[in-house]
Amino acid sequence: MATPTLQRPRYVYYGGRVCLWEDAVFHISHEAVLRGLNVFEGLKGYWQPDGSFGIVALRRHFDRLRRSARLMYMPFDTSFEEFAAAIDALLTVQCDRQRDAWIRATLYGEEGHWGVGSTSNLVLTAYSTAPGRPAPVRAGVSTWQRAADLALPSRIKTSSNYQVARFAKFEGRARDCDDMILLNQWGRVAEGIGACVLIVRDGRVSTPPAWEGALESITLDVVEGLCRAAGIDFARRPVERSELCIADEIGLVGTLCEVTQVVALDGREVGQGPVLGSLAESYHLAATGVEPFAGLDIARMPGLTQGGNRPAT
Ligand code: PMP
Repeated sequence: MATPTLQRPRYVYYGGRVCLWEDAVFHISHEAVLRGLNVFEGLKGYWQPDGSFGIVALRRHFDRLRRSARLMYMPFDTSFEEFAAAIDALLTVQCDRQRDAWIRATLYGEEGHWGVGSTSNLVLTAYSTAPGRPAPVRAGVSTWQRAADLALPSRIKTSSNYQVARFAKFEGRARDCDDMILLNQWGRVAEGIGACVLIVRDGRVSTPPAWEGALESITLDVVEGLCRAAGIDFARRPVERSELCIADEIGLVGTLCEVTQVVALDGREVGQGPVLGSLAESYHLAATGVEPFAGLDIARMPGLTQGGNRPAT
């Protein structure tokens, strides 16, 4: 899987405008620094066949960011139009014409001791990604758990929820796994560390619902729609660990990883059956605009066209 965070882009959107990367800094007294207060979204944009640049499900990402902020009592008064314009402004000066982009939209807490007089700052960073479908991965089941809803709700996309991902990543590295799957407090499958989990058994697709400890995934809703359109049975239901071990196919689903096939789980080979292969292909064709799908909205960025976006200076 791509590791876009290793890039150091020239520009960042910070404090209401595009500025240089090195100028986007927080004070040590800010809530984001002191208590890790933030909520965020990971968005993906692809060059489309007509030369435009499109962001997948932009409105839905904005809505989820607003919901995460609401759950965390963080002020977020940016309108959808302002949000879209901010992404466009950043990509216009930075987007690589040969590559797609991954955009992280983070709302950082600044002022506000335990929520009194809170202020927040929307920051956008964009990283280029190689075109094409993500490579299959070797996965493992982590000994670390997704936190319970009453401890740290998995519905909130806040980086605190990714501390456990760090544990799992280190564990995975030691076990020769590219990615890891977290169980919930009941020992059933919750989700991946940055993706939801799909299994296929006898041609039927199943995925753990949000109340099993998964983020309310936007990509999963699209995949559900693709399954419906293809006549594939799709169920949101609890998935036990042993079912994962005997699944015909396993996939990871998310904005960045699209539908990534799992080729091995804890050393057991996992089949590369027809169901996830065709879903992965359909999703990618829809996201890249090659075969549009009504259930997947692509928001065009007005500042970018393949021939004409302003080069970064
Ligand atoms: N779970 C986690 C923990 C994630 O980080 C992501 C990626 N945002 C997902 C699931 C998939 O969500 P989405 O399809 O909305 O990207």
